[in-house]
Amino acid sequence: MRRALLHGAGGCLLASLLVSLAVAAPRMKVKVVVDDLATSELRVSIRIEGNEDSTLRLRGVPTYVDNPLAEARGEVVRDLGVWSGGDSLVARPEQAEDGESLWIVRGAGDEVLIQYTLHVDYVAGEKARNYPIHIPAMDPTRAWLTGNHVFVTPGFGADRVGDLLTPLQIDLSFSLADSLELFGPPSSVRFENLLQLLSLQFGVGEFELTQVELEGSQISAAVISNGPEELRPAEAKVLVSAVSGMLGQCLDLFGGAPFPAVNLYTFRSNGIGGLEGAFACQAYLPPSVDLTDRRAEKVRTFLAVVCHELVHTWIPIGLFAVEDPWFKEGVTSYYGFVLTARAGWIGPAETDRLFSGYGDQVFGEVELEAVSLSDPRIWYEEYSSESWRRLTYDRGHAVALLLDVHLRSETSNRKCLDDVMRLLYANHAGGSFTRGDLLASIEAATGVDSRGFFARYVDQTAAPTVREVDEAQRRAIKFGAYERE
Ligand SMILES: [Zn+2]
Repeated sequence: MRRALLHGAGGCLLASLLVSLAVAAPRMKVKVVVDDLATSELRVSIRIEGNEDSTLRLRGVPTYVDNPLAEARGEVVRDLGVWSGGDSLVARPEQAEDGESLWIVRGAGDEVLIQYTLHVDYVAGEKARNYPIHIPAMDPTRAWLTGNHVFVTPGFGADRVGDLLTPLQIDLSFSLADSLELFGPPSSVRFENLLQLLSLQFGVGEFELTQVELEGSQISAAVISNGPEELRPAEAKVLVSAVSGMLGQCLDLFGGAPFPAVNLYTFRSNGIGGLEGAFACQAYLPPSVDLTDRRAEKVRTFLAVVCHELVHTWIPIGLFAVEDPWFKEGVTSYYGFVLTARAGWIGPAETDRLFSGYGDQVFGEVELEAVSLSDPRIWYEEYSSESWRRLTYDRGHAVALLLDVHLRSETSNRKCLDDVMRLLYANHAGGSFTRGDLLASIEAATGVDSRGFFARYVDQTAAPTVREVDEAQRRAIKFGAYERE
């Protein structure tokens, strides 16, 4: 998630080790039925096979696991039914300490069927009111939804992060009335864990779609908007070109893509910002900005946000750093700008200034001087205030820069963070990696032992100094980090 002018986002995750299952992964078949958009209702069924827990914890909707964007107005999950082995089971509502709504189901067997009707009625949540977050809720003609707002999810892991990252085989299919069209994913898709399912973004209704050409790639991409009144054809052309170049850079960097389609949904709102997702991400800009004016600073800012959200398709949705909570926004911020530059949408004048506000951003927030980038509180707090946001976005961005420059310096610029990302993706795509995996990948990809770097910049509470960051950026530019290979 990225806020450029109006900062903010939302999220909370518990940090812990992922306990991987030694047994075959449970399978989930999920079906979403939309008969009539005017009723604002979706029917959802989830069939689980290979369930091993007789007691299931079903997490309510919206599920506040990551990027919470809206709060339900009233009851959104209606007519919830749970069956196992032909028996109807009782789903007992419960509220967790943090306010999350759950249902506890006992007596679940190997196969479980969960069905409910989702009445889509959301308003901006508390965090969204503090930091405006813009998601168009379902209306009679158009809906754009994220998985967080649609799916009740059963817990399979040892804890909340474990639930999200436990390997599952999730097959999702949409069934829409003939008069309705689906935007974002194809009508049937596969996910490898609940994080990916909850990151799904899709639209149902009337949108304008422009295909993006991606040379030599199997994945499809498109720019989706609410129509020419919000995104003029000449502006859509600019975005198509930008997304094509940026996605090409992402594919070069990671060596593959976690999903067969990566779409960008764009709309007008206050400020500039965006939200990552599986199969589609979104980015918004003010009505006054003309995307065909490449000299305008707001256009370059918006395009860098677009690239940031595209990078999130890989980090964290396709590749989750389970013990490095700074990775999600810090490394994404770094590559968001690096790949925008490599794709040719920001130039040396902009890259020179990328860290010009670093000192004010990071050292103006005294209460966070005692927090390290590996502090698990980041999972809860990352989007809760400007101070926390600066910790992972701005300090995290700087530490990612320092790490890249460290690897380039140690290898006479023969190896860099790109090599590490590619190896991590090759070995852990569709899942997560630990600190141990990360250190081993750095060593395998570059030959550098980076334990000292992590001890100094990630696990200690002191942020890099302004001088260190300025020097690192100067060297990164000299090394060609922002240039196409
Ligand atoms: Zn982000």
